[in-house]
Amino acid sequence: MEKIDRTYLRYVRYAVQWGIFSFLSYAGYKFYLFVGHFISPDTNLAPQTILSLRSPSVEGFLPIGALMAFKLWVTTGIFDRIHPAGLVIFIAAIFMALLLKKSFCGWICPVGALSDVVWKLGRKIFNRNFTMHRYADYPLRSLKYILMLFFIYIIVMKMPSFAILRFLEGDYYKVADIKMLYFFTEMTTLTLVTLLILFIGSVFYKNFWCRYLCPYGALLGLLSFFSPLKITRNTDTCIDCGKCTKNCPALLPVDKKIRVKSPECTGCLTCVSHCPAKGALDIAFAKKRDLNPVVFAALVVVLFFGTIGIGMITGRWHSAVTQEEYRHIIPEASTLEHP
Ligand code: SF4
Ligand code: SF4
Repeated sequence: MEKIDRTYLRYVRYAVQWGIFSFLSYAGYKFYLFVGHFISPDTNLAPQTILSLRSPSVEGFLPIGALMAFKLWVTTGIFDRIHPAGLVIFIAAIFMALLLKKSFCGWICPVGALSDVVWKLGRKIFNRNFTMHRYADYPLRSLKYILMLFFIYIIVMKMPSFAILRFLEGDYYKVADIKMLYFFTEMTTLTLVTLLILFIGSVFYKNFWCRYLCPYGALLGLLSFFSPLKITRNTDTCIDCGKCTKNCPALLPVDKKIRVKSPECTGCLTCVSHCPAKGALDIAFAKKRDLNPVVFAALVVVLFFGTIGIGMITGRWHSAVTQEEYRHIIPEASTLEHP
């Protein structure tokens, strides 16, 4: 067997994931200052710098609004003005799923990055991660698809485009990002208990939230069936060491497959990075044409940031909500009810 060491692939992914996580944490902190300014104004802040405190990237945390905006865009051509960055990020995630497996989950999503840390913490504490019995695993995994179908039914199938437009242009949606901030900064007991349950679940089980509950990941997973790139094993060079399966965060039996077609595969390349046999495991096109995994990583970054770049260049990144509007609606954000 010719040996190969591609440990560096894991570090490339960590660098991308944690780079984005750090950027979003900083954006979240600035957003907190932005909202705080409208509650108790900071007189040291120049008026022109106030809006710059709000990074549009925070809109990536509004996937349900983005799904509505996506339907509106597809059916009418109207691009959401209120949280356009949320829609741009949603489109980027869809493109990525169609071409590069569920790489948005494996490389970009900050929740995925956090999940990774928590289950590794669990592995340190218990010396292993637990596996759900398959009779519980299958029904639990279907939960995220049920949630996804629920949102698709009420938004894509039931909600007319004019109703979506009215919702997206209303005051409630204008402060949806602020309500999301309050979800974390002004936690109710219910929120706290829910987050605690998710945390404990994630300590015991790998990617508890992503595997069982995330409807966004469910949608991207289904779209990823169309991805021409898939993890592909060469049975001639594989030495059946099982390291790919042992290390797969999605618990996929990689060493039993020729091509990993599962919607759970995030294209994280962890299996490839652990495979010791040269030419045994790669990311490849349908006709077994391998793609250098570093090129795959570069494509993930280019597709994600490239889509955002196009959004920026075409003026579909910054919200149309003015500072004056924020001045009126932010102090009332917590009392604004869903229309
Ligand atoms: S099969 Fe490989 S790329 Fe897919 S989730 Fe498992 S480790 Fe990641
Ligand atoms: S493909 Fe999996 S089982 Fe085969 S050599 Fe690589 S890590 Fe081992």
